[in-house]
Amino acid sequence: MIYLDHAAATPVAPKVVKAMKPYFTDDFFNPSAAYLPAKKVASEYEAAKATIAHTIGAKASDLVITAGATEANNLAFTSLTNSGRVLSSQFPPPCSPDGCARRGSPQLRHPSMLLYLETEHDSVRKAAEALGGKAIKVLPSGIIDLNNLKSKITDQTELISVALANNELGTVQPLAEIASIIRETKLNRMKRGVKTQLLLHSDASQALNLLDISVARLGVDLLTINSAKIYGPKGVGALYVSHDAKLHPLVTGGGQEKGLRSGTENVPGVIGFAKAAELAKEHLNYNRKKYKTWRKTLLQELTDYELVNKKHSLDNFIVLCYNGIDAERLVFLLEEKGIYVATGAACAASKGVRSHVLKAIGLNDSQIAGSLRITLGETNTEEQIHKAAKVINEIIKKEQNRIAQIHVTNN
Ligand code: PLP
Repeated sequence: MIYLDHAAATPVAPKVVKAMKPYFTDDFFNPSAAYLPAKKVASEYEAAKATIAHTIGAKASDLVITAGATEANNLAFTSLTNSGRVLSSQFPPPCSPDGCARRGSPQLRHPSMLLYLETEHDSVRKAAEALGGKAIKVLPSGIIDLNNLKSKITDQTELISVALANNELGTVQPLAEIASIIRETKLNRMKRGVKTQLLLHSDASQALNLLDISVARLGVDLLTINSAKIYGPKGVGALYVSHDAKLHPLVTGGGQEKGLRSGTENVPGVIGFAKAAELAKEHLNYNRKKYKTWRKTLLQELTDYELVNKKHSLDNFIVLCYNGIDAERLVFLLEEKGIYVATGAACAASKGVRSHVLKAIGLNDSQIAGSLRITLGETNTEEQIHKAAKVINEIIKKEQNRIAQIHVTNN
């Protein structure tokens, strides 16, 4: 097997499995219990949170552990000041000094309260759409259109959500520049006595093991991280929350995670996430160099493609367009040869939905249909890269011949 879909899932690293193991059996205690072994587990849980936080330049107390990035992204949106009400649409519509929302109408007081990048993962995009937020445009490179962002910020804007790295293209967004626009806006608001909050949220699910992340350098108030993409267990994530952001819980109960995420702590999951985050930091430079070289090799050895993610991409992302060829068929034909690739985000692909990301960067339907996503990772070797290039080229040639034959027959 040659696995080239590391943006969809990564295997749990053996060292991570080893670190997690005792917490399933010997150290199974509930961290909230009063006896000594449970207290030991509680302190190890906190230490693991500190390790995770350290990898993004934060403290354990800044993190809310969640069951994955989807939940962390949804939790981030509760920082909108009326979110206690907007998130419970089954209750009578909320009223505020600005007016009352009608049942079934957009639930934000103003659409520009929440701005999000049009290429966001569905866990941000769908949540933002449901609230009635406004999408920010991207340029054909996949990078945020900063002028479009500036034109959409109003005095009502409270939250801007832009992923650090896109999950279909690997495009890395200039978060520090966005943070600087936010700082200017806040200064301007202060001068005019406008007191509305303005927060920056970023989904860094794809980036924790590929970029050196510091919440201070990025200038974010809320940051989503994901264990599942960094060789840690699935179903574990975290939201970094700065002092400026005030959240509302999505679920209530025992009051764990400072009341923001009730439910008995997933101790093995968090221990595994911490080990994976530690290893990600340790391997970062080595892996980046390796992926850069392999990306170059693939681009040299592959034939007849157009590169989609030319600039500003994570080192392990290669998105190729084979115009006129059905990429979904390619995925199937490559699987028969033991090579696993994707056409886009795993969830979108499984539903047969055309990629909103490729559409946003201006690809037409035929280009979208012919786009293939290769994401390199720790399961790969140099030998596999050469082999994959050879097999992909052979399959492409066969497909081109098959299509040419159909044209001959039809004419
Ligand atoms: N955000 C991004 C950028 C992702 O790539 C993914 C998963 O593919 C998610 C969020 C959702 O993560 P999870 O399924 O672990 O909740």
